[in-house]
Amino acid sequence: MTYHGYAAAHPGAALSPHSWEPEALGEREVEVAISHCGLCHSDLHLVDNSWRVSAYPLVPGHEVVGKVTRVGASVRVLRVGQRVGVGWQSDSCGHCEYCLRGEENLCPELRATAIRRHGGLADHIAVDERFAHPIPEGLPSEAAAPLLCAGATVYAPLRRYASPSSRVGVLGVGGLGHLALQFARAMGCEVTAFSTREEKAAEARAMGAHHFHTTASGPRRAKGALDLLLVTVHHDLDWRKWLNTLRPDGVLCFLGGPEQPLNIPPGALIGGQRTITGSAITGRAGMREMLAFASRNGIVPRTELMGMDQINEAMERLRRGEVRYRVVLHTQRDELGELDLPTEDSPG
Ligand code: NAP
Ligand code: ZN
Repeated sequence: MTYHGYAAAHPGAALSPHSWEPEALGEREVEVAISHCGLCHSDLHLVDNSWRVSAYPLVPGHEVVGKVTRVGASVRVLRVGQRVGVGWQSDSCGHCEYCLRGEENLCPELRATAIRRHGGLADHIAVDERFAHPIPEGLPSEAAAPLLCAGATVYAPLRRYASPSSRVGVLGVGGLGHLALQFARAMGCEVTAFSTREEKAAEARAMGAHHFHTTASGPRRAKGALDLLLVTVHHDLDWRKWLNTLRPDGVLCFLGGPEQPLNIPPGALIGGQRTITGSAITGRAGMREMLAFASRNGIVPRTELMGMDQINEAMERLRRGEVRYRVVLHTQRDELGELDLPTEDSPG
């Protein structure tokens, strides 16, 4: 069976149709017929080779939802026809200390879904069954897709650092940021949104923000106001000023990675016992907890649905910062050859 998808041939290239013969399905792997794939800013970083880890041709996509079509001989839990999601991670060693304690995202042998293996902008994908996460019934596939990377990435540090009495800031109201606002609000936190675009104020409030400031005025307006600041932008800002938005014991957590080294005097951390840290996706248990929490609390990504054949238009919109707030691409029967795709949103 041939798989079809969209690939970049070299760094920064537009994506074009690409076909390949998959390896034989592994004993513990499942094959998934993809119906939806969210477009994360990390896909742009991968296509552009910003992190120097990309291999070409590169099929991006790591917010994948579809139905299981084949299972390997040793697959124990998943069954053909089941609706599942795949995020940034599609395998781990399974026996290191991090895997054993449910933090597979820290496994030294973490395998990323779309690095040196083709990702979810395709009709099919094969992954270890441990990283094909059942999607809760009632969560539409279009809404589930962005949760698999963006949702997981913002949920984990909120779970780790925030409590219901926390004052949480979210810097950047994009794919990650708009979900962070919703999760933080549902956890009971006092939520402040910071955006370069004033016109996002009303929507940010509707998504859970109690307060809204522009990114330019944020450090002044929110000085000493936050217990936790989630940074979802990858731009170089004056981090000394942003550190001053923290209260004593506050945590500044990078989810997006600015390029320049941080220039922070240790004294700015010592006085108020502040912490600067980072966070990467989440483990399997965290993923499943996040999906259940989102489903139970009505956390719904704001999505723009586009056909997979519109991928280049979608990527340009994302580059220009025009997306509100996540593009989700769906496969179409005629577009990538003859597909026998499962019916959308008929879970189970
Ligand atoms: P996105 O949808 O493009 O959102 C990024 C936001 O950054 C934009 O919406 C914008 O928000 C803000 N922004 C844009 N230009 C800016 C500027 N010049 N100065 C300040 N802010 C600016 O991207 P995303 O998908 O949320 O991803 C965000 C970052 O997280 C990416 O770098 C991605 O690679 C990374 N990421 C990390 C993980 C992880 O595990 N740590 C997982 C997924 C993604 P406003 O319009 O509100 O200003
Ligand atoms: Zn992502």
